[in-house]
Amino acid sequence: MEMSTTEKRNTYEIAKERIKHGVEQLGLPLSVYERLKAPDRLVEAAIPLEMDDGSLQTFLAYRSQHNNVMGPYKGGIRFHPEVDRDEVAALSIWMTFKCAVVRVPFGGGKGAVACDPRKISKQELERLSRQYIRAMAPVLGPEKDIPAPDVNTNAQVMAWMADEYCQIKQYNDFGVITGKPLDMGGCVGRETATSRGVIHATIEAAKVMGVPLQGAAFAVQGYGNVGFYTAKFLVEQGAKLVAVTDSTGGVFNPKGLEPDALLEHKRQTGSVKDFSRCEAIKAKEIFAVDCDIIIPAALENQITREVAQIIKAKIIVEGANGPTTPEADEVLKEKKVLVVPDILANSGGVIVSYFEWVQNNYRYYWPEEEIEKRLQQKVVEAFAYLYDYQCNQCSNGVTMREAAFMYALQRLAEAMRVRGWIK
Ligand code: GLU
Repeated sequence: MEMSTTEKRNTYEIAKERIKHGVEQLGLPLSVYERLKAPDRLVEAAIPLEMDDGSLQTFLAYRSQHNNVMGPYKGGIRFHPEVDRDEVAALSIWMTFKCAVVRVPFGGGKGAVACDPRKISKQELERLSRQYIRAMAPVLGPEKDIPAPDVNTNAQVMAWMADEYCQIKQYNDFGVITGKPLDMGGCVGRETATSRGVIHATIEAAKVMGVPLQGAAFAVQGYGNVGFYTAKFLVEQGAKLVAVTDSTGGVFNPKGLEPDALLEHKRQTGSVKDFSRCEAIKAKEIFAVDCDIIIPAALENQITREVAQIIKAKIIVEGANGPTTPEADEVLKEKKVLVVPDILANSGGVIVSYFEWVQNNYRYYWPEEEIEKRLQQKVVEAFAYLYDYQCNQCSNGVTMREAAFMYALQRLAEAMRVRGWIK
């Protein structure tokens, strides 16, 4: 099924709507909305890149710094051809709320370069990453704004970026960027952290919904870092991966798919499409699949009102940022589907980024078990207090997303009030 064009939503408008709604639900002063509705600062730069053939191209780059009342701005950098100013602004807002929800002492930021990384060489990618830092260095820093990986960026890109920053500063200051390789002050478990967090959230969601994970059928949209590791770890938990799609199409097999073999197929062919012994499905058909759990792990605005209507799963765990529109939320609430919101479900990434930053600042590194234990503790704890908030502390019928926004808003409002930013 195709997404109807009338339902395409501007992500930034959605983000503002969600804040306004939460402020109204809590009866907070409107000044809270005024302070949070726009990023504190959004830097836009045209970055020049010398291509391998000697020609010069410029790429639009952004860094949005939404709010830093809780700590330095924090959030990933994505490389994507369709990214724009509004999307980056919205994603930076989500980071502020994500950090507030899981009580990580950071504010919200996000960066992007409008480019298609599949169409540039490795050398071009390195130069582009370094140019991004040259353009943004004045507003970055371990106490100011700390980037990390996001869609189409990884530890290698972070290494080039962190190195460029250190070259500019003339000393090593690894805390400026998280998600770095281990040899450059990275943190064990950071690469899988977002998915580990998704798994902890899924386990908790399955418990409260009475869905046994053993044998539960699940579907994954997107097979990048989050999609792949989530699929792998959920299969390790005894669940059955029945469908996966990426932007070009996908595969379905009710008997179950093997995550590693599927990744190998994707590495060889560039897509999950045509994986052996599977039925072919179209990209959006992932949401119509008969399963217990759906993990959107791709981009924003995938679950619209009409997509929500065809969903059969009882649980949605948002590995992606902003995959569900407010209109879809209403339908899902009506259908009693539990949606574990992005700002909780995918918080594992920024939680372990926080651990990495702490270790960089102390120059003292923790063992993997410590990271895994603390990550699990944080996600499970946050799930528990949000679920309790949703069930017991709100007057009837708020969704877990509304509970998450309200919880974060209360913390942000209080922090802004004590600092005198609002009356
Ligand atoms: N890009 C990830 C996110 O959207 C991680 C951000 C970070 O670690 O700062 O949460």
